[in-house]
Amino acid sequence: MSATRAAAARSAPAWDVARVRRDFPILATLVHGKPLVYLDNGATSQKPHAVIDAVSHYYETGNANVHRGVYALSESATATYEGARTKLARFLNAREDREIIYVRGTTEAINLVASSFGRLKVRSGDEILVSAMEHHSNIVPWQILAEQVGATIKVIPMNQAGELRLDEYEKLLTPRARLVAVAHISNSLGTINPIKDMTARAHARGVPVLVDGAQGAPHLVVDVQDLDCDFYTVSGHKMFGPTGIGVLYGKAAHLEDMPPYQGGGDMIRSVTFAKTTYAPIPAKFEAGTPDIAGVVGLGAAVDYLGSLDRNAAALHEQDLLEYGTKRLATVPGLTIVGTAAQKASVISFVLAGIHAHDVGTIVDQSGVAIRTGHHCTQPVMEFFGVPATARASFAFYNTRDEVDALVEALQGVRRVFG
Ligand code: PMP
Repeated sequence: MSATRAAAARSAPAWDVARVRRDFPILATLVHGKPLVYLDNGATSQKPHAVIDAVSHYYETGNANVHRGVYALSESATATYEGARTKLARFLNAREDREIIYVRGTTEAINLVASSFGRLKVRSGDEILVSAMEHHSNIVPWQILAEQVGATIKVIPMNQAGELRLDEYEKLLTPRARLVAVAHISNSLGTINPIKDMTARAHARGVPVLVDGAQGAPHLVVDVQDLDCDFYTVSGHKMFGPTGIGVLYGKAAHLEDMPPYQGGGDMIRSVTFAKTTYAPIPAKFEAGTPDIAGVVGLGAAVDYLGSLDRNAAALHEQDLLEYGTKRLATVPGLTIVGTAAQKASVISFVLAGIHAHDVGTIVDQSGVAIRTGHHCTQPVMEFFGVPATARASFAFYNTRDEVDALVEALQGVRRVFG
């Protein structure tokens, strides 16, 4: 723990994890007759009552289409929908509400930027920089674009700890670079990337930056103005909101320049068979009936997060990371993959001689849910020379006891395999 973190830990109020756990009904359920130990928060987080109730309350009392009706119910649905946009703008510290575009999640957000901003800005011979630790959703959309326009993907390399090599990054920022696309936090390694610094270096050469914030928003207090990134993506389901809803933040100047991503209802100003003109942002990027209930749930998740002491939550997660790292090291033959100095509460590991899928299947018998596989980061697996890892990813509702349950279950795996 850094000196600043240690000082904060001394002054921070204790995190009442038992109270927070009561907010999440699923944490009280049993799996194979054992209490659920949910350690797959990197894949998706669990949902608090506040979110579940907001969604069902909306369907029970507030359901109507938005932006369409002149009747009270539709007006109130529209107000809730747009009110959530204001909450999300504050959550990310965006300058304006219209910089918040509702999408399905990070995958759609990146595809939107690749397709729209990419078509506008990237030409044959240009280069798009992605990092060696990106999720497939921050690689493949850029490859599709590169193939269409004749651009090239350049990879910002990392070291054996899973930290990006900023010296190499600097060299890749040539006059051919058109965009940098990088994760705030790696889902398979836990590395927290130095986004503010990376953005400043790119901007010094006039290169815009997209940040994949799928894992950033759940763990960090995000300030897009401070980071100064051009785009930031959020997956609602990883930050205690519903599945199927997320956010693309984009600087207004970019979004205004960009062509629409999808055409249809709600994104137009006027349509004739001869010519269509588009609505201003954000509507230009929100064709069709949106996931209104999802937006309601996401707004409730933002409110819920706002009701917590996020500094104390972050310290609790760091404690789980440090405790987990120490405890897992006691399991014979276990190696942690991803040992960056700046890490979120994600621990990827391999057990010598045992496939990660076997590890996951056996610990499940003890009620312990962890992720196994390549975590949609096959290049990371290739870099570390492993077919797959097992991954425990912690949220602020996890406990040291749950870390112990994982360690005990892993010792059971060792016994099975001898
Ligand atoms: N990027 C990262 C770093 C992720 O962890 C994930 C989800 N595992 C994604 C992108 C894709 O997010 P979604 O599936 O919510 O679109």
